[in-house]
Amino acid sequence: MQQSRLAPKREAVQWFSTATLLLTPFVRVGGESLLRLDASTRTLYFFGAAVRIEEFYLVLLISLLFVFVFLFVTMLFGRVWCGWFCPQSTLTDFLEAMERRIKKGVKNRVVARVARHLAAAALAFLVASNLIWYFIPPAEYLQRLLALNLGAVAGITLVMVTTIVWVDLTYIRRYFCSAICPYGRIQLMAMDANTLTLEFDPDEACRCIGCNSCVRVCPTGVDIRNGFQVECINCGRCLDACRGVLNRLYQPGIMHYTFGRRAAGGGRPVNPRSLLLAAVIVVLSGMLAYATIHRSVATIKVSRGGDGGVRRLPDGGVVNFYTAYLENRSRVPALYGIRVAGVAGEKVELLGPTEKIKVEANENRRVDFMVRVTPAPSSPEKLKLRLLRNETPVAEAEMTLLVN
Ligand code: SF4
Ligand code: SF4
Repeated sequence: MQQSRLAPKREAVQWFSTATLLLTPFVRVGGESLLRLDASTRTLYFFGAAVRIEEFYLVLLISLLFVFVFLFVTMLFGRVWCGWFCPQSTLTDFLEAMERRIKKGVKNRVVARVARHLAAAALAFLVASNLIWYFIPPAEYLQRLLALNLGAVAGITLVMVTTIVWVDLTYIRRYFCSAICPYGRIQLMAMDANTLTLEFDPDEACRCIGCNSCVRVCPTGVDIRNGFQVECINCGRCLDACRGVLNRLYQPGIMHYTFGRRAAGGGRPVNPRSLLLAAVIVVLSGMLAYATIHRSVATIKVSRGGDGGVRRLPDGGVVNFYTAYLENRSRVPALYGIRVAGVAGEKVELLGPTEKIKVEANENRRVDFMVRVTPAPSSPEKLKLRLLRNETPVAEAEMTLLVN
């Protein structure tokens, strides 16, 4: 009897998720990283869109969506992130495999020890660099690193994160998953009686030969025969180990994955709680899609300019001074123009550089201009400004015309 093993699938998933985290900053869309927060321009580059700080309602929506997806996935699949996706587990597995090779190939104990520490330090440095790539593009990071010109914030972050990860990979490792990881603690709150868990089948307990293989392979030191324990990260190693032993005796393994522990009265992954969370996710996704589709590619804001004064003209007209701020939120430069809507019975003119204003991608450009209205109205009036991008209206702003 030969049951399939979970290990190859788990390793494939682990490497895929770790490679995704490592390589995402290298993937470029329209000349920018797929996902990067540029602190200097306060812009989040997110899958081809440049979201500026003024639009952080989008970031809020995305964050909320992530939180609810996390709750939903955790409620259904438990600590599957920890066992199957988390880079901490992948790096620890990788380091352990590397150490086995060092132990096999290097006979001198001191050299082997130094090699182990160097391997952990190299991995820690890679993790810290990877984190910074989400703020500074990898090519620029490398250039600045080689020139020893990383800057204070990035430099301190690099040193601190490298040190923390090195300590973690050298001295803490799996203990981090079972006792320290705050994410693991939060996950436990999201789990319920119907969550996917790995179960030692109580009806099959009589087949256990007490070989302890399942305990020896467990990375968090759990003896799954004693029932569900919060330290279990759903990795499935004990399941593989038990199958390996019992299959040789022509019997199936004793462990299996199950939605909800029978002892806890679970077993219904589709329940009001999961349906409610799914509904919230659908609503948030809809809101995000709507907000993204209706997002303006440019904005205009107007304030009073010059000395804020008003000039009366000999011909009976009036001039007001303004300053406009044009923001090009798109990924390409464009030519902008400002127009003012006419007022019945009055001649309204814009004076200043209000045509063919080139604004670079993601640039915020200041434009000073005047508005002349002839004849001057008897009382202050609201005027509507229109921003045109390549002759197409894209945004509007209102301003008040003062008369004295
Ligand atoms: S009990 Fe099994 S599934 Fe849970 S962490 Fe240990 S080996 Fe992994
Ligand atoms: S591996 Fe299976 S047979 Fe061996 S102790 Fe664990 S549960 Fe029992």
